[in-house]
Amino acid sequence: MTTLTYQRPTSLREALETGGSDGARFVSGGTDLMVQRRSGRSGTENLVSLRRVEELAGIDWKNDQLRIGAAVPLAGIGADQRIARDFPALAQAIAALGSVQIRNVATLGGNLCNASPAADTAPALLAYEARIEIANTGGTRTVGLDEFFTGPGSTVLQPGELLTAILLDARQSAGSAFMRLGRVRMDLAIASAAALVEIEDNRCTHARVAVGAVAPTPLRLSAVEEILEGKAPDGPTLAKAQAAVDALISPISDLRASARHRRRITPVLVARALEAAISMATGDAQ
Ligand SMILES: Cc1cc2nc3c(=O)[nH]c(=O)nc-3n(C[C@H](O)[C@H](O)[C@H](O)COP(=O)(O)OP(=O)(O)OC[C@H]3O[C@@H](n4cnc5c(N)ncnc54)[C@H](O)[C@@H]3O)c2cc1C
Repeated sequence: MTTLTYQRPTSLREALETGGSDGARFVSGGTDLMVQRRSGRSGTENLVSLRRVEELAGIDWKNDQLRIGAAVPLAGIGADQRIARDFPALAQAIAALGSVQIRNVATLGGNLCNASPAADTAPALLAYEARIEIANTGGTRTVGLDEFFTGPGSTVLQPGELLTAILLDARQSAGSAFMRLGRVRMDLAIASAAALVEIEDNRCTHARVAVGAVAPTPLRLSAVEEILEGKAPDGPTLAKAQAAVDALISPISDLRASARHRRRITPVLVARALEAAISMATGDAQ
């Protein structure tokens, strides 16, 4: 019989020292890891819980800069009024993720570190150009979220390293939105999209677009952003942006949807996210 060890460090230093030991695995809410253990996809027997680590808790604002601790439960982030106002696409992604019970324990750090191509929070955070704070026993470093994912289930995190926080800068004049399609309410997305735009004098001055579940990692669509920037946010521009999506994605067929279906719906989700973001940026939102 194998023995399951479960350690509960209370400081970052203790967590890094414990998590760096052989065969140890960090666990936050456990909503991915425990399912993987049960299905035999993770044989980890030495779990290091992050739930009591003080440095990973808390939502902190410094002017327009937001720091979300990696182990903050999604429900806490979703309930934050200022996040809902300044980062609506993130709040919408969290509202679409799992159920109340899941969001009460699941964390933002866990959603990113699990590195599912369908992770709901990733497209929104990519559109906001989130930065990821990583700690190891030697110190901390920061990477852009667009450099964080390296493939399905893999990230730049080295063994024993921790994602400590997600860093965001609010753009007060921007509009942003998240859209997703799933088979049923509580299931991973078949495809998802997030968009952020800034509009000045009927010109799109800044655009960020990202998609989920249609490539090996959540993906920024830079070519779509280039089509939008400098143009009027009108029907012809949106049609060009929508038409560019297909060449940028590489969806697979799986139990949730065929690659063909994903190719059909992703441009539609991108266009809808852009329309909602433009409405918000121009003050036309209902
Ligand atoms: C019923 C159900 C429905 C779900 N629905 C959705 C959905 O709609 N959309 C969606 O995106 N996901 C969904 N999920 C997946 C899951 O709930 C989320 O991915 C969740 O955010 C994971 O967070 P967690 O804290 O539970 O992660 P955990 O399971 O604790 O950890 C996940 C992985 O990340 C690692 N890890 C966690 N935190 C850190 C850290 N700070 N530093 C380094 N490594 C870390 C762990 O070692 C593990 O490998 C669902 C899961 C279930 C069970």
